[in-house]
Amino acid sequence: MIAAPAILPPTVTVEAMSEMEVEEYRQKREITVEGRDVPKPVKSFADVRFPDYVLQEVMKAGFVEPTAIQAQGWPMALKGRDLIGIAETGSGKTLAYLLPAIVHVNAQPILAPGDGPIVLVLAPTRELAVQIQQEAAKFGASSRIKNTCIYGGVPKGPQVRDLQKGVEIVIATPGRLIDMLDSHHTNLRRVTYLVLDEADRMLDMGFEPQIRKIVSQIRPDRQTLYWSATWPKEVEQLARQFLYNPYKVIIGSADLKANHAIRQHVDIVSESQKYNKLVKLLEDIMDGSRILIFMDTKKGCDQITRQLRMDGWPALSIHGDKSQAERDWVLSEFKAGKSPIMTATDVAARGLDVKDVKYVINYDFPGSLEDYVHRIGRTGRAGAKGTAYTFFTAANARFAKELIAILKEAGQKVSPELAAMGRGAPPPPSGHGGFRVRDRDRDRDRDRDRDRGKGYGGSRPWN
Ligand code: ADP
Ligand code: MG
Repeated sequence: MIAAPAILPPTVTVEAMSEMEVEEYRQKREITVEGRDVPKPVKSFADVRFPDYVLQEVMKAGFVEPTAIQAQGWPMALKGRDLIGIAETGSGKTLAYLLPAIVHVNAQPILAPGDGPIVLVLAPTRELAVQIQQEAAKFGASSRIKNTCIYGGVPKGPQVRDLQKGVEIVIATPGRLIDMLDSHHTNLRRVTYLVLDEADRMLDMGFEPQIRKIVSQIRPDRQTLYWSATWPKEVEQLARQFLYNPYKVIIGSADLKANHAIRQHVDIVSESQKYNKLVKLLEDIMDGSRILIFMDTKKGCDQITRQLRMDGWPALSIHGDKSQAERDWVLSEFKAGKSPIMTATDVAARGLDVKDVKYVINYDFPGSLEDYVHRIGRTGRAGAKGTAYTFFTAANARFAKELIAILKEAGQKVSPELAAMGRGAPPPPSGHGGFRVRDRDRDRDRDRDRDRGKGYGGSRPWN
């Protein structure tokens, strides 16, 4: 079978843009591009030949114009080429890959009995996979395109039935997908459009063996697209092993950066002060709006949540030791605003798009600066403003320097205490970034979707 790339000709308006206009537009929207034959960006939804039913959904959602990553990412993705797309949290990356995916499916021969999906989207957590599927369902609602979500912690039966009926788009967490492949409930022979959302996370040592296994079953002439808000230098080389002649598009600075719509406060505290400080903070900010509090470990998360509830705070918690049913329920209560405080481990750090999260609190500092950027990125999404409070202890001192850089880049105040820690702290053990410096012995929380064997590799250190 031939993979017909979904190449759409540019519209007259796009074609007519002069090189100077293109430059001006890219500058205005802080778009940096790399790669050969980069297509011109699109300034409006009408500039892309999306199907009418897609455009209708876009209008219904009330979107005024493409976000910067969409403006440049769409024409690139529609060229059928590989792509690395980096843009801040909450900037519409999901639709940056889903809408071209719909166009891509429409350009392929229809599924035959026994065929697996045409589009495969991989995501690091179950909740994120489900959220992406909801977005796919919404924007492809009036099409013939079917989708399903393959993730662990829930019965396989319905997922198996979906796969056997035939679905064009599969959104999956790696563990459960590998189970489905091993037991021949699906195959990846028809996949020609592969997306790694939260790509740096998907390629870090926790997931890399699973990604390798999955990718090895996909035809080499596929189109591969990576998306994230963070892209540590260390990941680039590994990432490029799975790419051919890629484009790269970066919105804003190429360095690690936080969304500028988020006000960032960092409070230097001792471990024993944390709980009282948290309660004081909650008393100050609690007005019924949603507050997301991150903890380091599942145990710590349970402890603080119990304490908060005993003290009368409406807190519910989500982490990897909870049943999926409870995780789903807690997230839906939080989304609905019925339970305004959610405590979480890093399972909730990436991708989740909950409207009106006003505050993110880092009760414990995360294991890397990338995680910091993603955690606080649960607020300040899609043009909204948000606030992040971070407790920072002497034990976190090695992160001070890079945290200061992130604060400064975003025009945030750096307290004298933090500045002193930045000067005094010993440099990280190995060069740049929390990415490699990530604590290995931490109880990092992640979805272990495989029912058999080890949930994740992690056998090979990053370097
Ligand atoms: P990211 O993956 O970049 O963190 P998401 O794809 O989750 O961001 O999108 C964040 C929010 O922005 C979502 O609620 C989404 O519906 C909304 N959104 C997407 N595209 C646009 C747009 N062009 N204009 C306004 N809002 C948008
Ligand atoms: Mg996202």
